[in-house]
Amino acid sequence: MANRKYIVGNWKMNGLREQLSDVADIASIAENHKDVDVAICPPVTLIALATETVPGFAIGAQDCHFASNGAHTGCLSAAMIREAGATMTILGHSERRADQHEIDADVKAKAEAVHAAGLGAIICVGETEEERDAGQAIDVVCGQLEGSFPDDADAGWLTIAYEPVWAIGTGRVPEASDVEEMHAAIRSKLSALMGDGADAVRILYGGSMNGGNASELLAVPNVDGGLVGGASLTGEKFGPIIEAAAAA
Ligand code: PEP
Repeated sequence: MANRKYIVGNWKMNGLREQLSDVADIASIAENHKDVDVAICPPVTLIALATETVPGFAIGAQDCHFASNGAHTGCLSAAMIREAGATMTILGHSERRADQHEIDADVKAKAEAVHAAGLGAIICVGETEEERDAGQAIDVVCGQLEGSFPDDADAGWLTIAYEPVWAIGTGRVPEASDVEEMHAAIRSKLSALMGDGADAVRILYGGSMNGGNASELLAVPNVDGGLVGGASLTGEKFGPIIEAAAAA
């Protein structure tokens, strides 16, 4: 049986209070498509405000620290983002792997901390263009998955996002056949890592998904939803992706 589609907006470092109206617009579109799970991950400054604006709508964070507290200036623990109102968080996004030098072991520790705090996690994996050109994409992605994989993985709280780095924010999208091949490889790696529960773990595609290409991407086998950056900032752009998921 196919998994329920899951469409998640990653607002990155975008959004001030005035954008709370966009969260409200998106939540009301989601309300009309209850067969799709929808969430927005705004900057952490908007998490509490967003949960007050749209009670019951899923709001997530974009990262958290693996420690529960301590001398980590500028960082936030899983309990802190939960207290702000987040029900889940993105982890290991390629921008954090590149800018903050996060490695797989960090992502694994973060995922375990997030689960211990009762939150969901979306672990991001993806190859660079050089790695794809060198024929290493599947090995790189499956290696990241294995290294980032939490000990207590379960579909109830864990989601994987395949995001080719070269497709993020570029308007370039892989061929559907390449997405299919990668998602099948991730599924099979999940089976090797966790056995029976692997089929229920949702695998999202991320990288320049928009209202024009969402239907094709969401129809690919083993694509259980999308992690969306630029096209998630307004209801006008994000709505068609939610609608495509509902129709898929
Ligand atoms: C992302 O950063 O997670 C992402 C998918 O961005 P975009 O949709 O803008 O490519």
